[in-house]
Amino acid sequence: MAKYNVVFVLGGPGAGKGTQCEKIVKHFGFVHLSAGDLLREERQRPGSQYGEEIETHIRNGTIVPVQITCSLLRRAMEESGKNNFLIDGFPRNKDNLDGWNKAMTGVAGVRLVLFFNCSEEVCISRCLSRGEAGSGRSDDNIQSLTKRIQTYHNSTMPIIDHYRGLNLVREIHGEKSPDEVFEDVKQVFAELKL
Ligand code: UDP
Ligand code: MG
Repeated sequence: MAKYNVVFVLGGPGAGKGTQCEKIVKHFGFVHLSAGDLLREERQRPGSQYGEEIETHIRNGTIVPVQITCSLLRRAMEESGKNNFLIDGFPRNKDNLDGWNKAMTGVAGVRLVLFFNCSEEVCISRCLSRGEAGSGRSDDNIQSLTKRIQTYHNSTMPIIDHYRGLNLVREIHGEKSPDEVFEDVKQVFAELKL
């Protein structure tokens, strides 16, 4: 058995990944690793050789090379001293998936993929409100969002389909209130035996 248990959490920008992950952490004791947050932290780190490259991708809604993202994830996993992880917002494309499989097979086992399904209109309006409410994110604006949604459709949906083929996807309807959505999430975790 791999040392680490991983649940990937996917869905469009604003689908509710971060909000639901916080609740899962409280109820089920997972460690939450947001790939986007780890990249934003690395971007801010003084002396980072990847700062500019990361910022360009985030603004353009494109995807950072997997070597960078996967090594940030792996380091966070090792440093946590824990075994059960929610990895939020990764893998987003074929390069992410291949890089993860190459580096992490035998180290981490993907137990489930939680997929928050949410319409484009709801996703856009949530991210724009988040931007207006001062998220401080350089990509919560309509130009970046249009590109993020395009990347999600073209590059991330095929990854969700890949895991669907492995029967690992649990799809959650993400448009209700956070508490209502969490009722559905709870049912998924109740059947997960680690
Ligand atoms: N990103 C990336 N690789 C990842 C995760 C995020 O390149 O594995 C970049 C990408 O440019 C993305 C941005 O970070 O558009 C924001 O990602 P985040 O997951 O924070 O956005 P969310 O989907 O939560 O709105
Ligand atoms: Mg997020």
